[in-house]
Amino acid sequence: MTGDPVPLRPDLTVLSGYHSRQVEVEVRLNTNESPFPPPSEWLDELRDELGRIDFNRYPDRSATELRAALAEFHGVEPTQVFCANGSNEVLQCLLLAYGGPGRVVAVFEPTYALHSHIAALTGTGVVRGWRGADHRVDLDVVDRILEESQPVVTFLCSPNNPTGRAEPPEVVAHVLERAPGLVVVDEAYGQFSPWSALDLVTGRASGAPRLVVVRTFSKTWSMAACRLGYLVADPAVVAACDAVVLPYHLDAMTQAAGRLALRYVDAMEARVALITEERGRLAAALGELAVEAWPSDANFILFRPTGRMATDVWQDLVDASVLVRDCSTWPGLDNCLRVTVGTPQENDRFVAALRSSLESAGR
Ligand code: PMP
Repeated sequence: MTGDPVPLRPDLTVLSGYHSRQVEVEVRLNTNESPFPPPSEWLDELRDELGRIDFNRYPDRSATELRAALAEFHGVEPTQVFCANGSNEVLQCLLLAYGGPGRVVAVFEPTYALHSHIAALTGTGVVRGWRGADHRVDLDVVDRILEESQPVVTFLCSPNNPTGRAEPPEVVAHVLERAPGLVVVDEAYGQFSPWSALDLVTGRASGAPRLVVVRTFSKTWSMAACRLGYLVADPAVVAACDAVVLPYHLDAMTQAAGRLALRYVDAMEARVALITEERGRLAAALGELAVEAWPSDANFILFRPTGRMATDVWQDLVDASVLVRDCSTWPGLDNCLRVTVGTPQENDRFVAALRSSLESAGR
């Protein structure tokens, strides 16, 4: 036996992890969570429910009640719903089932980095198209990529993280019509959007068996600590995910938390309305400062300081105990930062710190 480290899978050495730098600060606006806690009544119900769990037994492997509740919420069949530990695990299951060596997925950059990252982890090739002006998906680029690469999965993200806009319905319809494989629309921020691709899923409206819509409880449901996400799709896609996921992957507490959350839809919608209002206030404040800011249909805003280096501004904000996401090294996002919409007080702190950082450029 030698003391040499065991070599990693060779293809993994080129991959770097996807992590937002966590720094101890008072105002955390870097990972697009909800700034508000879930309703206290939900927590009371969850505490009661925990007392009824048989902790010595494995959880319901099929998450039957949670699936049924989500199906009812969306007006689809339970066979059209698959749940996992966050939407990232949902995406991983999709790629375990449909990706792999010799297959490729298509993404339109800049977009959510985990789509291509999980593809690479599962040995799936990635073909990248670039968005056009104002970060919009260019349909000529879409057509060329779909034709040339025949992706097994085409990813869209609506609203798109980190650029912020929802994809227009005609773009999703166009991709659905042309894509040879699955079309996965990641709607992690779907409740902020003016429309949802859920309206196109089988069982509703026209029916689109190759469309997969992915959602999460991490953002609008204020439950990032729980790790719960799901997809709504054709039953064949759900069966494929069930076939690759680990047994008993979703614990009983998370299943209960999600099921109970669905009793508090009004509270969730009220939080979305409040955050949307704050987003408007934040956008107006950014409009007064020396930054280029892009319109957002989500709970975050992408912006680019025009007179200073983004990394310097990021550091000034940290020094003022405000953390935002530094996207300046991400492809296509030169000198950009992304701020999550927080509480009114957090947003005020951010704007004041940003103003002071940008003004310090002139000194
Ligand atoms: N999709 C998008 C577009 C996201 O921004 C995120 C969170 N950053 C996720 C999926 C993953 O969310 P989770 O795993 O917490 O459900």
